Amino acid sequence: MKSKSLILSIKNYLLDVLFPKQCLGCKKEGFFLCQDCIVKISSLSRLVCPVCLKGLPTTDLSQAKCNTHFKKTKIKFLAYTTFYENPLVRKLVSSFKYRYIQEISSILSKLMAENLKQYKLEGFIIVPVPLYPKKLNERGFNQAELLAKDISSSLDLPMENVLQKIKSTPSQTELSSKERKLNPKDAFLCFAPERIRGKNIILVDDVFTTGATLEECAKTLKQYGVKIIGAVVFAR
Ligand SMILES: [Zn+2]
Ligand SMILES: [Zn+2]
Repeated sequence: MKSKSLILSIKNYLLDVLFPKQCLGCKKEGFFLCQDCIVKISSLSRLVCPVCLKGLPTTDLSQAKCNTHFKKTKIKFLAYTTFYENPLVRKLVSSFKYRYIQEISSILSKLMAENLKQYKLEGFIIVPVPLYPKKLNERGFNQAELLAKDISSSLDLPMENVLQKIKSTPSQTELSSKERKLNPKDAFLCFAPERIRGKNIILVDDVFTTGATLEECAKTLKQYGVKIIGAVVFAR
């Protein structure tokens, strides 16, 4: 892993030299996302029910739940910063995922942490959604893990990277919605249950599509006595 991150840093350095930084929103030079464009995407931060996506009126995450759907899902709340349909948000996510731009990772995680900061977070731990090992190898990093690490350190919450993806599943964005719902079933396992038993968990991922992946992760965690599970994503 060490030499891989060195290669990524060199690749990043070369990309910076060859393609000078430009705001992905307005093309202003010197930033990947300038202050004016950050404001455009960050004013939306919300806490919602993962099923009906209606706002949850609470400041205490351990109390957050949708009165209509709390039995339908293992995830009590979803915190998101912005909408994936926004072209600038898509650009940010794809630059982050496919080019590994560390600076963009920090921008996204900062916005996600700021969203969570409004709530009472005591007793929660951070768990990233894992990538299938082959995919991790191809990409060189797990975007959810990078975000989770940043969020964990900026909110001073412990992170436990305890989930493993054991089934390769096609990319969620390439499937019909029916396929997507079936898709990630039994795809995850927890390899260190003693580290999460009895805890409250916030799952971290970059984008929320149908919620099927997060739901499967939550189901896996629930088998090991996790109490409350919520999720934070950059965009939905
Ligand atoms: Zn800009
Ligand atoms: Zn609901």
